[in-house]
Amino acid sequence: MNLCDSRTVKNIMEAFGLHFRKEFGQNFLTNRMVVEDIADSCTDNADETILEIGPGIGTLTRELCARYRDVVALEIDKSLIPALGYTLGEFHNVTVINEDVMKADLAAILAPYFEKGAVSVCANLPYYITTPILMKLLESGLPFRHITIMIQLEVADRLTATAGTAAYGAITAVLNYYGVAERLFRVNAGNFLPPPKVDSAVVRITLHKEKPYQPKNEDVFFRTIRAAFEQRRKTLPNALSAGFPELTKEQCVALVEAAGHRADIRGERLSTAEFLTLADLIADAL
Ligand code: SAM
Repeated sequence: MNLCDSRTVKNIMEAFGLHFRKEFGQNFLTNRMVVEDIADSCTDNADETILEIGPGIGTLTRELCARYRDVVALEIDKSLIPALGYTLGEFHNVTVINEDVMKADLAAILAPYFEKGAVSVCANLPYYITTPILMKLLESGLPFRHITIMIQLEVADRLTATAGTAAYGAITAVLNYYGVAERLFRVNAGNFLPPPKVDSAVVRITLHKEKPYQPKNEDVFFRTIRAAFEQRRKTLPNALSAGFPELTKEQCVALVEAAGHRADIRGERLSTAEFLTLADLIADAL
């Protein structure tokens, strides 16, 4: 079965009475090389479980099943489940669950798989909900080895940006707290059915086994980053005083200077480690 062949995809969709649902971000991959490259690069250990979010009609899922010990696929669209039964019928190492990943209890679903060994995530993510899904995976505290996701090019640039560049944002600083992101390759819009409006890229995040950053207060750490980027054009002390109404403007200036920066610096110049130093000082001052 070649699910990268557009005619086969259309035939299966017709046979199961399906149509591409825009509201679920359904753009299915149709380039075999791209599908194989994603499946190959999402981890390096065949003895792993892969959590796939949004299997669609199973194009990437089949390649994951062929390479890894177990695959758990969460699909929100109920109408795709019978088609997945057909396209994945030959594999006995896959469990398809009809659930919204944002509502799913990932710890409970994956508990038996974590007992067997490592678990990684691999997904061609729906564009409309990329960041919430990524944040849910990171904040779950589950010890995923890798999270490999196909996302809009612009978001991929953001995730892998360095401090001080235009693409660097709150999500970059937060992501670096959880792991290291690498952009693997670009995928042009023509490789999907239907083609989306923008190009994509595959990003692999390797989660830190031991967090290199240990904030005194995690809430204050995240608030510091959020405050810095919510008022991106303001100087860091001004942005902080808007985000921390408990602190005076003078205190914010003093804290930024105590962290080793000039008072006119903008938050977007700070690396994750520098945010941590500043957040620890803020935590002490609150
Ligand atoms: N994996 C397939 C591929 O690469 O061809 C399909 C990828 S398509 C970009 C995104 C998939 O995610 C669709 O199948 C869509 O129905 C599913 N999806 C969208 N929102 C979801 C959610 N909240 N939870 C689980 N699946 C979701």
